[in-house]
Amino acid sequence: MTDGTGSHYEVIVIGAGVAGIYQIKRLTDLGVNAAVLDAAADLGGTWYWNRYPGARFDSESYTYGYSFSEELLNEWHWKERFSGQPENLRYLNYVADKFDLRKFMQFNCKVEAAHFDEADNVWRLTLDDGRRMTCHFIILAVGLLSTPTLPRLEGMDSFKGRSFHTYYWPHQPVELAGRKVAVIGTGATAIQIIAEIADKVGELTVFQRRPNWSAPLNNGPISDLEMADIRARYGDIFAACARTPSGFEHEPDRRGFYDVTREQRLALWDRLYDEPGFGIWLSNFREIFMDEAANAEFSEYIANRIRQRVKNPAVAEKLIPRDHGFGVQRVPLETRYLEAYNRSNVHLVDISETPIEKITEAGLRTTARDYDFDIIVYATGFDAITGSFDRIDIRGVGGETLFDKWREGPSTFLGMLVHGFPNLLMPTGPQSGSASTNFPRGIETGVNWCTDLLQHMWKRGYIRAEATPEAEQSWTAHVTKMYAIMLMRKAKSWFTGYNSNVAGHEHGKVRYFVYNGGAPKYVAKINDAAANGYDGIVLTPDSRSSSRTPLRTTAQV
Ligand SMILES: Cc1cc2nc3c(=O)[nH]c(=O)nc-3n(C[C@H](O)[C@H](O)[C@H](O)COP(=O)(O)OP(=O)(O)OC[C@H]3O[C@@H](n4cnc5c(N)ncnc54)[C@H](O)[C@@H]3O)c2cc1C
Repeated sequence: MTDGTGSHYEVIVIGAGVAGIYQIKRLTDLGVNAAVLDAAADLGGTWYWNRYPGARFDSESYTYGYSFSEELLNEWHWKERFSGQPENLRYLNYVADKFDLRKFMQFNCKVEAAHFDEADNVWRLTLDDGRRMTCHFIILAVGLLSTPTLPRLEGMDSFKGRSFHTYYWPHQPVELAGRKVAVIGTGATAIQIIAEIADKVGELTVFQRRPNWSAPLNNGPISDLEMADIRARYGDIFAACARTPSGFEHEPDRRGFYDVTREQRLALWDRLYDEPGFGIWLSNFREIFMDEAANAEFSEYIANRIRQRVKNPAVAEKLIPRDHGFGVQRVPLETRYLEAYNRSNVHLVDISETPIEKITEAGLRTTARDYDFDIIVYATGFDAITGSFDRIDIRGVGGETLFDKWREGPSTFLGMLVHGFPNLLMPTGPQSGSASTNFPRGIETGVNWCTDLLQHMWKRGYIRAEATPEAEQSWTAHVTKMYAIMLMRKAKSWFTGYNSNVAGHEHGKVRYFVYNGGAPKYVAKINDAAANGYDGIVLTPDSRSSSRTPLRTTAQV
């Protein structure tokens, strides 16, 4: 069934990040003829690309790692509660080598197009170097934060110094000592990098359009003794992650916001502010996410923390968000970010007041003045959730493109299938249970479900799986409805599809990107669909079943 010009696989997985690595493990354990393709020169996805100073987890390291292998859990020693990029990349390489997965991976393979051939039930792929491949099933593990976006500014090519998006931070060390550095953006990445380089550069100027809420990470090392304790508790830790809406250990406070006194609320917030990780966001009262007044009271609490930590009152006020409340978008966690602004070499420029007009040869020009820089860092984020899907020319039944279908926002069945695009699976797609949670927990869920569906098909001789239009409409309506009660729907954030640097995404029209029902409900729903014979999916028998096998070897699927 090859097209005579390239290689044929039963399954091609696109993306060699956390999702792609686990997906190829599951498939090759079954003996399936499968390959992973990645545009990068090596594996790791997010942790291969983002090498900027300060890049690290805001998930507890030991809740981020894979849970599928006890041996792996017993072998790997996380050195920090929130581990940094170099260690995270080492971990993913360790996993790939331990399970001998690298041989199934092909790098420098950017997939430009994937067209479904209805006659043969195969996907025909074209890579950016012209190579062609075919497969029966395509699994998009392309990442939800993997298409970086640059600002749309005049003159960006004219700058004579060094400039890079944080996603493309160079692999070789960048000399920062004594340099005049600009950071454009104050989102999650900027908050990490600014705090990390403030005391390493000559001068640091931060260009902020809209401030973001943040809270302390409270990171620390994990000793041998603590790691032994974590190992002994892994079962409980992952059980707790499976129980919570967010896939973290942090459980919401189930007391009613208005059922406790203001003093009790303050006591909770004081405790959470000093604790490691997302507790301040996820162990808070649930009303924070849905009730304007509750959210405003808590936001004011965090605003006061900013006022206490930033010495210059005018700067502190500029760092307090006014257009959204705390926690209605994913909260960046920081290590002495706010204190960076107490340094005499760090300057904050509010570009909502004096916008950047252009990048110049020497630096940049705002409406107020010219600035000279040696390095410009674009910490301007991603075309989130659908960006990497939109960048591939994916054509399904009748030549319809996925880009066109999703022009106004994604519609999916369970976040994993799309009507009109048979045999295309997304273990961590838009509207799945991944983005609003601790990603790897959602990734393992999605990969396991997709693999089970494939096994079901192979065992019963099905060749084609396609979500029905009704199932897709009903799932998308369900996802949409859940936004209605969340304050998040009002935020200009990547949870709602806002990005001023992406055509069509600049105006704040809400795109229903994430599943807000929480991990346990999501898992129950996808398990129900499977238990009901993959209700919502049309499975078509293979009339030519004797002529094909999904296997590399004689293993049984
Ligand atoms: C700086 C940063 C910090 C983060 N921290 C956390 C955290 O603490 N906790 C958490 O839960 N999540 C975090 N995330 C989210 C993170 O993306 C996920 O945790 C996880 O790494 C996603 O894995 P993935 O395999 O789904 O996607 P990715 O890791 O994004 O991998 C996708 C891969 O697909 C490849 N690809 C895309 N398109 C193509 C194509 N057309 N052809 C070939 N290859 C392609 C890319 O090159 C990439 O390697 C963070 C994200 C960033 C950017």
